[in-house]
Amino acid sequence: MDRVYNFSAGPSMLPLEVLQKAASEMTNYNNSGMSVMEMSHRSKVFEEIIESAKSVLREIMGIPESYEVLFLQGGASTQFAAVPLNLARNGKGDYVITGNFANLAYKEGARLTDATVAASSSDKNYTYIPKLAKDMFRSDADYVHITTNNTIFGTRYTSIPDTGNVPVVADMSSNILSEVMDVNDFNVIYAGAQKNIGPAGLTVVIVKRSLLGMASPKCPTMLNWTVHAENGSMYNTPPCYSIYIAKLVFEWIKSMGGVAEIQKINEYKAAMLYDFIDNSLFYANGVEPKDRSIMNIPFVTPSPALDEAFVKQAAKCGLVSLKGHRSVGGMRASIYNAMPVEGVKALIEFMKKFEHENIT
Ligand code: PMP
Repeated sequence: MDRVYNFSAGPSMLPLEVLQKAASEMTNYNNSGMSVMEMSHRSKVFEEIIESAKSVLREIMGIPESYEVLFLQGGASTQFAAVPLNLARNGKGDYVITGNFANLAYKEGARLTDATVAASSSDKNYTYIPKLAKDMFRSDADYVHITTNNTIFGTRYTSIPDTGNVPVVADMSSNILSEVMDVNDFNVIYAGAQKNIGPAGLTVVIVKRSLLGMASPKCPTMLNWTVHAENGSMYNTPPCYSIYIAKLVFEWIKSMGGVAEIQKINEYKAAMLYDFIDNSLFYANGVEPKDRSIMNIPFVTPSPALDEAFVKQAAKCGLVSLKGHRSVGGMRASIYNAMPVEGVKALIEFMKKFEHENIT
């Protein structure tokens, strides 16, 4: 069977070139006589892999030296707890609730700190990003937590809120490396790898060095960013193979011309799909246009029965994992960096055909 166009929200498609390179190095990496999966994380060969992964990520994201890059485990969900435990000064965290994961981050935060909802878009089922202003945040909060792209609801921030002196912490799981962002606008960025970075199992944390050393004494060692920073992300065994694939993905982004070029392709893909949906009387996307994600695009047909038929028939045509999240229904096309333009074109062709066959 040929490869399909996989619209999964994550784990999701990886660039074919990356998979092919990994396959060619699977049993014998760089004349080491072994797979990256088999080698000691303390070996010189692996040390080169992790150092190169960090430095290429620094280069493509423009991460200043004043920030630490950590390769951790436990998914973005583990960082929901790590954030309040590491930034424990006044014991206060402010949250902007723009979707399911933002809410989970808040709920976890509320177990560990005095967490407050500064703003929420739950009134309209998270179809927009609330307008934010400095006076909505507590000036003595340890951080303001935002979710830059909302994977389930298909919204994204197009500007980063002014929080005054309060550090901005961003869950960037579903749009890291998809568009140019100024790392200086954030104090902490974290992301699960399984969308735009590589395989599940790796979590990237980018933290301003000046915020290290503030962890609560109760912070478990494995959640402590300072411990991981002091140990070069090797306090314990890191997710070696995921880090290796991430390095190949970072190199692929660089070879494509960097994040700015990838952004152009992403905007092109998203505009194509949104234009088609907006010009159709059959399909609809309910997100506030100015807040639309360029990574996750939810849409519906006129009925849940047709939605179900759409997902089934699309899969038969090699367009898979289009079912929307259970909390939203309908369909969702996740079109991360590795989704080729041809994949989006094939989806639109299928949508035209399905509409033609089912319009009444
Ligand atoms: N935040 C966002 C924005 C996500 O999309 C996800 C997963 N889809 C998570 C957090 C949770 O990530 P993980 O499964 O890596 O814990």
